[in-house]
Amino acid sequence: MSLDTNTRNDLIFQLGDIVPSEYLLTKEEQLKPYECDGLAAYQRLPVAVALPDTIEQVQQIVKLCSQLKVPIVARGAGTGLSGGALPHEGGIILGLSRFNKIIDVDTNRQTATVQPGVRNLAITEAARPHGFYYAPDPSSQIACSIGGNVAENAGGVHCLKYGLTVQNVQQVKIVTIDGTLLTLGSETLDTPGYDLLALITGSEGMLGIIVEIVVKLLPKPHSVKVLMASFNKVEEAGNAVADIIGRGIIPAGLEMMDKPAIEAAEAFAKANYPLDAAAILLCELDGDDDQLEEQVILVEETLKSAKASHIVIAENPEDQAKLWAGRKSAFPAVGRLSPDYYCMDGTIPRKQIAYVLQKISEFSEHHGLLVANVFHAGDGNLHPLILYDANIDGELETAEHFGADILELCVKVGGTITGEHGVGHEKMDQMCVQFSDTELTQFFAVKSAFDPDSLLNPGKAIPTLHRCAELGAMHVHNGELPHPEIPRF
Ligand SMILES: Cc1cc2nc3c(=O)[nH]c(=O)nc-3n(C[C@H](O)[C@H](O)[C@H](O)COP(=O)(O)OP(=O)(O)OC[C@H]3O[C@@H](n4cnc5c(N)ncnc54)[C@H](O)[C@@H]3O)c2cc1C
Repeated sequence: MSLDTNTRNDLIFQLGDIVPSEYLLTKEEQLKPYECDGLAAYQRLPVAVALPDTIEQVQQIVKLCSQLKVPIVARGAGTGLSGGALPHEGGIILGLSRFNKIIDVDTNRQTATVQPGVRNLAITEAARPHGFYYAPDPSSQIACSIGGNVAENAGGVHCLKYGLTVQNVQQVKIVTIDGTLLTLGSETLDTPGYDLLALITGSEGMLGIIVEIVVKLLPKPHSVKVLMASFNKVEEAGNAVADIIGRGIIPAGLEMMDKPAIEAAEAFAKANYPLDAAAILLCELDGDDDQLEEQVILVEETLKSAKASHIVIAENPEDQAKLWAGRKSAFPAVGRLSPDYYCMDGTIPRKQIAYVLQKISEFSEHHGLLVANVFHAGDGNLHPLILYDANIDGELETAEHFGADILELCVKVGGTITGEHGVGHEKMDQMCVQFSDTELTQFFAVKSAFDPDSLLNPGKAIPTLHRCAELGAMHVHNGELPHPEIPRF
């Protein structure tokens, strides 16, 4: 729904009173860079982009949009992969990129207080001289913003041991739809009342605008070892993941790559990956020296009995960085294999890895599209990269169907349709598969408690019951929708 001309003019005129003219973008060529996020298959131009740099400006913008009933899509760095920051055609993009200050690094409290536009990696860079780091490390960490990480509950290689964003955030300040500034969380371990901090984490810009964050910092581990194990069968690598965790070891990171991903990453990063392997596992262990030696022995034994054909142990930081460089650059590297790829994100119980990878390769044959798998195996968080060519008629749609089959399989084996990339615009239909109408009704109730007119990132993350009914995923008796009192958008 686009805005009527009077409201549009009124909006732009009043926004001009809130932010300086160079930070209010309204011309088509200025809006173009904001037409999509990392899920570039979907594009839309917003009415305007406002780039405030104070909390007061955010409050005024939100109040204005609330009065004029104009949708607001918050945007961090735009690296999201589920279309979460895809603009609304009748709304504004509220860009947080100018909120880029690290306010404080407090080593006594082991926290950093940061603005939402600060890059994930910049937090660790600021904490490093004090001997600390910020654990959640999405592969996009050189670019993605911490505000976007909180909004997506981002994960990364080190989240297996140290938790996702939600476990590493202590406090946030948000601006609610009426312009109020709220502080959620506390400086202590427990906070009385409902856990609104956890609710905001992963809320995909639909409940409030995050304007300040206190993240937890961890002391840098004493020692680190990285093992790379090669396998002749993908299935054996999948089983080795469950075996390692089953021995009571929680690695700092446990990642898996299959042959297409290994070949692409090796050609790109020259990480010394074995090109004859069907799959590799990268396992990072950290801790005190004694404890670490014991763990390395146990993991090596486990990998051998899981039929690893070759094991390399990287002892020094240079060799470790080289091994990780391949994994960290695997997404862009796979981009060299085909003109386009579609990155899926779903999570399964670890014991299902081998079965699900086998099914994905069957889907690949069925849909006639190749797939490369590179993922956080320890968490069961899959990232199948489906290769396609958008210039070939129908290939995007085939890739989407392939992706939908994978996500629905994740639900079937007891997993979830996202692990870290959020639902956004992309996975709305699979939400109908994951959740019942009663659960979706509760989600809408929470959304409307924060945002009664549905102005914050409307149309994302939670499908309407009507949409699910159209997909046949909700039971409709005699043509009567359950809960007719709920607005259908
Ligand atoms: C190469 C590559 C690798 C990636 N690897 C990973 C990975 O390992 N793990 C992982 O979790 N993700 C990964 N991602 C996805 C992406 O980087 C994350 O989802 C990241 O958290 C998005 O941050 P952003 O600043 O780019 O947010 P954006 O894309 O700008 O926005 C994402 C969502 O957050 C909302 N939002 C942003 N800022 C705010 C705010 N201040 N207040 C309220 N809502 C806000 C937006 O409305 C949108 O819904 C990867 C992406 C790429 C391109």
